[in-house]
Amino acid sequence: VSSASRIIDGAAYAATVRAAVRAGVGALERERGFVPTLAVVIVGDDPASHVYVRNKTKAASDAGIRSIEYKLPAETPEAELLGLLRDLNERDDVHGILVQLPLPKHISSDRMIYAIDPDKDVDGFHPWNAGLLALGKPKLVPCTPKGCVLLAKTVHESLRGLEAVIIGRSTIVGRPAAQLLLLEDCTTTIVHSQTRDIEAVCRRADLLVVAAGKAELVKENWIKPGATVIDVGINRVVKDNGAIRIVGDVDFESASRVAGAITPVPGGVGPMTVALLLENTLHCARTKAGDPAKVR
Ligand code: NAD
Repeated sequence: VSSASRIIDGAAYAATVRAAVRAGVGALERERGFVPTLAVVIVGDDPASHVYVRNKTKAASDAGIRSIEYKLPAETPEAELLGLLRDLNERDDVHGILVQLPLPKHISSDRMIYAIDPDKDVDGFHPWNAGLLALGKPKLVPCTPKGCVLLAKTVHESLRGLEAVIIGRSTIVGRPAAQLLLLEDCTTTIVHSQTRDIEAVCRRADLLVVAAGKAELVKENWIKPGATVIDVGINRVVKDNGAIRIVGDVDFESASRVAGAITPVPGGVGPMTVALLLENTLHCARTKAGDPAKVR
C-alpha cells in the first residue's frame, strides 16, 4: 500500500525560468544595448517539428528574445544549408543558432551540427560542447537533460550519492543526462535496448530518468517505492476511439502508485526544454556582450 506520488510541475518551474530569462534579457538590453537573438532553421514540413519551432519562437518573443526563422523546403541542398550556417556564424547580431532535427535524409545532421559555431550552439550538441560536458567542464548544455536534473532537484535538495539510472543513451538526452548526474555526484548507470534484466537495474534507482522513446515502457514493477521518476518521452498514441493522446515513456497511472515523485507528460520535462533553450540563448548573448555573469 502506498500513497500517491507527488507530481512534479514542470510547467510551473519553466515559467519561473522564463521569467528570470526575461529579466536578464531586459537588463542586457538596458545596460549593453543588446537584444539577444536566436536563429531557428527548419528544413522540410514535418508537422511535429513545426509545432516545436512555433513553441520555441513564441517563448523567445515572450522573453524579449528576437528570433529569426528560416523555413527551408525539404529539397534544400546540404551545401545551401551549410552556407546559411556559415553566414549566421559570422553575423554579430545573431547570438544563438538552432537547427531543428530531424533533417531530411539527404542532409547529414552531424555535418550541420559540426558547422555551428560552438559559442552559438544553444542546443549544446556540438562536439566541442559535448566534450566539455564529458570533461566535467560544461558550457552550453543540452536543454532536455538539464531540465531533468533541475526537476529532480525540486525533490532532492542534493542528488549526491543517489543511485541514478537513465534509460536511453542518445546523444541528445540519455548520455548528457548521465554526464550531468555524474557531476551531481550520483552513482550513474545507463541502461538501453541491449541491457539484460533492465527492470532489476531500474528498481535500484533512487532517481530514474526515462528517455527511451517507447510509449509507457516503464511500469510500476520497474520502480523502487519512493523513487523519483523523470519521464522525458513524448509519444503520440491512437486510442480505440481514434483520438490521439500524448503519453510518456512511463505508464503514469501504475508508476504514480509507487514513485515518490513523478513528472507528468505533458507538463513535465517538455516545458523545461523550451525554457532552458531561452536560458542558453541569453547565456550566448551575455558571453558575446563580454558579460561573464552566468545565468545559473
Ligand atoms: P532515441 O530514439 O534517440 O534514443 C532512445 C534510446 O532508448 C536508445 O539509446 C535506445 O537504446 C533506448 N531504448 C529504446 N528502446 C528501449 C527499450 N525497450 N528498453 C531500454 N532502452 C530502450 O530517442 P531520444 O531522442 O533520446 O528521445 C527519447 C524520448 O524523449 C522520445 O520519446 C522523444 O520524443 C523524447 N524527447 C523529449 C524531449 C522533451 O523536450 N521533453 C526532448 C527530446 C526527446
